[in-house]
Amino acid sequence: MPTIVEAEQLLQKTYGYSSFRHGQRQIIESLLQGKDMLGIMPTGGGKSICYQIPALMLEGVTLVISPLISLMKDQVDALKQLGISATYLNSSISWGELQQRIDETKKQRYKILYIAPERLESESFLELLQAIDISLVAVDEAHCISQWGHDFRPSYLHIGRMIESLPKRPTVVALTATATQIVRHDILDNLSIPPAHVLITSFKRPNLRFVVLHGVDKREYVVEYLRSHPHHSGIIYCATRKEVDQLYLYLKDKHFPVGRYHAGMEENERDQMQEQFSFDQLPIMVATNAFGMGIDKSNVRFVIHYHMPKNLENYYQEAGRAGRDGEDSECLLLYHAQDIHTQRYLIEQSDLSVERKQVELRKLFDMKNYCLTQTCLQQTIVRYFDDQSDEKCGKCSNCYKYDPDAQVELIDRTVDAQKVFSCIKRMREKFGLSLVSKVLKGSKSQKVKQFGFDQLSTYGILSQHTEKEIYRLCQELAADGYIQIELSSNSFPVAKLTENALAVLKGTKKVIHRQLRPEEKPVSSSAQLLRDELFEALRKLRQEFSIQEQIPPYMIFHDSTLKEMCVHLPIEQSAMLRIKGMGVHKYEKYGEAFLKMVKEFVDKYQLSPAQIDKPSSVASHLLTYQMIQQGKTLEDIAEERKLNLNTIQDHLFRCEVEGYPIRWDDYIPKEYEKTIAEAIAKLGAHKLRPLKDELPEEVSYFMIKAFIARAQQQKMKGEQVVSS
Ligand code: ADP
Repeated sequence: MPTIVEAEQLLQKTYGYSSFRHGQRQIIESLLQGKDMLGIMPTGGGKSICYQIPALMLEGVTLVISPLISLMKDQVDALKQLGISATYLNSSISWGELQQRIDETKKQRYKILYIAPERLESESFLELLQAIDISLVAVDEAHCISQWGHDFRPSYLHIGRMIESLPKRPTVVALTATATQIVRHDILDNLSIPPAHVLITSFKRPNLRFVVLHGVDKREYVVEYLRSHPHHSGIIYCATRKEVDQLYLYLKDKHFPVGRYHAGMEENERDQMQEQFSFDQLPIMVATNAFGMGIDKSNVRFVIHYHMPKNLENYYQEAGRAGRDGEDSECLLLYHAQDIHTQRYLIEQSDLSVERKQVELRKLFDMKNYCLTQTCLQQTIVRYFDDQSDEKCGKCSNCYKYDPDAQVELIDRTVDAQKVFSCIKRMREKFGLSLVSKVLKGSKSQKVKQFGFDQLSTYGILSQHTEKEIYRLCQELAADGYIQIELSSNSFPVAKLTENALAVLKGTKKVIHRQLRPEEKPVSSSAQLLRDELFEALRKLRQEFSIQEQIPPYMIFHDSTLKEMCVHLPIEQSAMLRIKGMGVHKYEKYGEAFLKMVKEFVDKYQLSPAQIDKPSSVASHLLTYQMIQQGKTLEDIAEERKLNLNTIQDHLFRCEVEGYPIRWDDYIPKEYEKTIAEAIAKLGAHKLRPLKDELPEEVSYFMIKAFIARAQQQKMKGEQVVSS
């Protein structure tokens, strides 16, 4: 029987990754032993490897059921890049071609065969499958099997029957990123997976920063965001096709490199836009939720929801398309109360059953709560998916605004806010925030004069600030509930004061803004500049290969792989093969070219790796990791890097999630081990606060978390997690 050690060797050799991530090891080990599994891991968690590695190790073929045609092609292309033979069968290919691919599969030409679920509705296709030696069936996006999921696909219900019809029952693995209790139950039931064979990793995405914004001028906000994030790739989701078209034209007019995608467009144009997005030619995509399921782009740095989606499953799936490569990314939701009415109307008008409508309305209620909550946004999401985490992410808009322990600076903006409110009042609450900002600035614009606003006592009282700064302050005051934006009778947004604003004007309430302390001083050292220069050069080289081979750049190497090259400066084959994401096959194809470029760069500046390997804002946690490897204590690192100790401790957990081995023993004082173990045995490990309360004062949250992490690590190494 193939072993997990061999699987790990394959991981290194084929994918260029040094260790499995949370969950991957257990799932793969179980599959190699012939045990069915349901794996629930977040987007970007690494689900594909869970079936691809066993596929390479088991005799026969692995059948992967995947819901979208375009995703299938991408996955097959990506596998080819790794030197793995795979093919797919779906409605885009003719019956003749289909039979040929099946024949070749029978002859062992392919190890992995992707199929669309709709294929399973055809009896003749099921007959063809009989002749193939299928050892593993992987059901991707397994939540599509359940009517209670958000993407129900009736043809998924045929999978169970297909499995039973095969001459020899294969091992089955179901994978999804979103599955509530009821959906989980349906998956297990339909695929006859034993209930104990479930592995759920945390739903957390530590590299994502979640932000909810209230009352902002959405268009202006998006324009400002895009301006301040040049060269970033991202998706902007709108609720309707019409809104996609309008925003697309608006942004295009402002010369942003933007594409659009919705189901109402010609297929040709849609495909072209998607391709240009994948190839980073149009890095910004404005789209309805029809866009995304079929793409696997790993360097999406932001996802903006222009409107609130109808439920948290959809939201997390769409927002989760950011940062699949593990690099820091942002998920922003521009909330407006009107969104709830729109979604409610759509549900009520739909032809769903009464029972189903109730479910949808409840989900909508949870979505609304996410937009209005004051607790950590990441925590709110993971709790929705039954992960009773007590941890706050420390970087979402709520941690930043409301958490009393956050590392923030308090800024008293009461006087400026009073000036804003007073101006709005004097303009009789009949105008929008941009005109209000002009008046406060003392603008000489025609419109200000036309209404006689240059005669107001508030005219120019914030003239020491730029108009943009004033506008941003107004937006923040709206987001915090001091100003409400309503539509006038002729559909213009007008700013009205709320009770809170009146209290500020009366002097009974203060406006305190919390500003996140910058985590690190910006690095503009020569090392960083050099790294940026090399990154640009490597990116161009990747682009050349991408054009030459007609595959998207991220399929050649992720940004994170190029960034690692910039840090470690590999100039020899062995060093290059140690770079994360550089498997043997990729090295054979591209390794020499990238080596040559790094070498030229090193020679040009006469560098040694140590010269460039300086603090980087790019992968802060990895720098911490390197310093630990050099034998430094966490306290020393915090001191040296002028960072908070909590931040350094969080780096460790992030490294662990990314598969870097951590010696937790070093952080658990021997004298407390027994007490912590007893407390966990009594209270469980789901909630930290009760554990902290139970334990002596000296036992910190970090020690408890380290203890839990070590227990999980040990479980992964030796014990059998799956009972059978
Ligand atoms: P999912 O299907 O869960 O959304 P993917 O399978 O697409 O995620 O994996 C996301 C990214 O993580 C991919 O770029 C993949 O190559 C990478 N990845 C997967 N497993 C590992 C690992 N053990 N170490 C490093 N990177 C990994």
